[in-house]
Amino acid sequence: MIRNLITRLKARAGGKGKITGPFRDLLAAGPGLSRTIGRFGPYIRAQAPLIATGSVALLVEIALRLLEPWPLKFIVDYVIAPPANGPGLPQQLANIGPGMLLILAALTVLIIATGRAIAAYIGTIFLALAGNNVLTQVRAELYRHIQRLSLSYHHKNRSGDLLNRLTGDIGRLQEVTVTAMLPLSVNLLTLVGMLVVMLWINWHLALLALSIVPIFLFTMGSLGKSIRSVAREERKREGALSASAAEAFGAIKVVQALGMERILERTFARQNNASFNEGVRGRRLAMRMERSTDILIAFAMALVLWYGASLVLRGELLLGDMLVFITYLKSAFKPMRDLSKYAGRIAKASASGERIIEVLDTVPDVRNLPGATPAPRLHGHVIFKDVSFSYAPGQPVLDRFNLEVVPGMRVALVGPSGGGKSTLANLLMRFYDPDKGQIFVDKRDIRTYTLASLRGQMAVVLQESVLFATSVTNNIAYGSPGVSFERIMEAAKLANAHDFIVQLPDGYRTVLSERGSTLSGGQRQRIAIARAAVRDAPIVLLDEPTSGLDQENERAVTEALDRLTTGRTTFLIAHDLRTVEQVDLILYLEQGHIAEYGNHQTLLDYGGKYAALYRLQMAKRRQAEDLEENYAFIR
Ligand code: ADP
Repeated sequence: MIRNLITRLKARAGGKGKITGPFRDLLAAGPGLSRTIGRFGPYIRAQAPLIATGSVALLVEIALRLLEPWPLKFIVDYVIAPPANGPGLPQQLANIGPGMLLILAALTVLIIATGRAIAAYIGTIFLALAGNNVLTQVRAELYRHIQRLSLSYHHKNRSGDLLNRLTGDIGRLQEVTVTAMLPLSVNLLTLVGMLVVMLWINWHLALLALSIVPIFLFTMGSLGKSIRSVAREERKREGALSASAAEAFGAIKVVQALGMERILERTFARQNNASFNEGVRGRRLAMRMERSTDILIAFAMALVLWYGASLVLRGELLLGDMLVFITYLKSAFKPMRDLSKYAGRIAKASASGERIIEVLDTVPDVRNLPGATPAPRLHGHVIFKDVSFSYAPGQPVLDRFNLEVVPGMRVALVGPSGGGKSTLANLLMRFYDPDKGQIFVDKRDIRTYTLASLRGQMAVVLQESVLFATSVTNNIAYGSPGVSFERIMEAAKLANAHDFIVQLPDGYRTVLSERGSTLSGGQRQRIAIARAAVRDAPIVLLDEPTSGLDQENERAVTEALDRLTTGRTTFLIAHDLRTVEQVDLILYLEQGHIAEYGNHQTLLDYGGKYAALYRLQMAKRRQAEDLEENYAFIR
């Protein structure tokens, strides 16, 4: 496993990730975004009141922004320098007198600015709130979905990367909605508004100012493509970075035991630098885009100044109108620059959106089939009929495997590692579905039951039981919601756990630390057995539940297991053959086939592989015991 880890780390650090896929430039972030918005549609629609109020406020803000230079125009064209051939003041205003008009204009400036500030505030707050609400729900859906994805998916995708999508990508979308999408849409609408007003004032001059737009779009297009691919690469590298950190931290015991810290640090540092370089590249590209926009806008201003002023001199344009033009271009300056500044972020967000949708749209391999119905209370009659299965194409693990187990029978699966023991358990629990053949429980194909109702009738005890950082009661009740405390206590008694639980500081209410490390291995197993018992499931799956326990704990656990499995169909995966002496049927599995079967005595008498393995284990144990006796004086 560790070798695997290192090779993967090295491969990732050394290999330059290539961006594949169709040609996409910044403008093509649009489809990604609209797909994201479409996918989140139901959540967005639920926020309609917030979105509507916010949008109206922002429209008011835009209108006020457009009105900003008009008091100035009014003063210039009607009060300071009214041209001889210009339109005179309407009668009502002409009576007011210039001094009062100036005060009114000044007041209007103030009112417009204040109104704009209030509208912008309301708009931003409401829309940000809506965006956050949507993304919080998307995150919840993503979490729900990831948990339901099949094991095969989780094996292929590293948990670090999935985590990154759950936190990083959603966070990025959340941030970009507020810091880029919102201002960008306001700016775009403002631009359109300004354009309409400019065309209305003087379309010659407006078209002249517009002449830079094609060049602008071209610059955006070419730089945008690079920005988008850099952004994608950056996200990918970040995903890989946290995935490998998660891998290393997850296996920290092994890493420290083997003294691998240095190697892993070096590979991590390499990856870290690569990700940094990618970040710098992205920033540089974004800067280049901003500078190009600055120059283009200066160019447009120069054109307007030159042509506009000559129009004014010829008396074809009011001075105030030219001022409006210049002010618009100057304030268009900001939207245009923001347009390029936000472009990078939005491209990133679009990539994030796609990464989220990619997970959300993954259909679990194993899922409820149409027409699946909840299983009734099962008896535990299990049949594997001609089951063929492979994890990877072309490498069959099971090939037309057949087995029938009657209700209440205890079956042990033994044999060399890789023989297919866990695979049988995985298939029965529907972590995977067979490629061919069928598995029946109580005469019905297990795919005709709903997943939850099928798994709900199976109890599992693994070699290392996972306990959660919550009370003992909750730990036992996990997987059996609504179970009464009496049942929990009964289960704990059955599992030989009650006595030590009541001696814990808070008894059943004691909160266990993560992974239950405050308890001994045997105690953890007994809580896991209680958890299995409380489910009262007709089918029990045990995966080496006693391995690694000392003798005393082993006895307590074995006894508990005996009680747990009585009357229930049981599959016990075992390496230690002492644990299978009492079961009804032993299957010796080798390369996915049943090489030998029978009970302990018949298999011993048969004298085949099982008998050989049994004798080998016995001899080894005797040797170990002798050794211990001989060196007992050392202690
Ligand atoms: P056992 O439990 O008897 O040790 P398994 O059922 O775990 O055997 O494995 C049977 C075969 O399937 C082995 O060759 C193993 O390498 C392969 N295998 C098990 N799990 C996976 C997996 N998740 N992906 C690919 N191959 C697997």
